[in-house]
Amino acid sequence: MIELLKERMGERLNSQQYDKIFSDISAFTRNTAVTASRVSIWWELEYSLAEEVLNALVDVGILQKYQVVRCPKCSLLLKKVEYTKDYKEELYCYGCDTDIEVDISDVDVIYSLVMAT
Ligand SMILES: [Zn+2]
Repeated sequence: MIELLKERMGERLNSQQYDKIFSDISAFTRNTAVTASRVSIWWELEYSLAEEVLNALVDVGILQKYQVVRCPKCSLLLKKVEYTKDYKEELYCYGCDTDIEVDISDVDVIYSLVMAT
């Protein structure tokens, strides 16, 4: 799988960065979920490059990308949703005990391992 990522990212990452990325990912469990901002710290990459690495890992079938919606008022995690750019819906929040309109700005993009079924 390291070769697949190298094909995509080429010289933009050095060999230490590739090694670090792969040792971190091989330590992921089914419960590991990361954001681009977290891995940008782990891998010492610019946020946009970290996001690109994660998306490349999605493309090669190692990671899956999904969204979790948080209540804009109390930050409670409301649900997991399919990845779409124009997400918007009304959800009930237990924390606030009311229906709340949520949209893409309330969504965190999360990456986790693709699990063999
Ligand atoms: Zn709430």
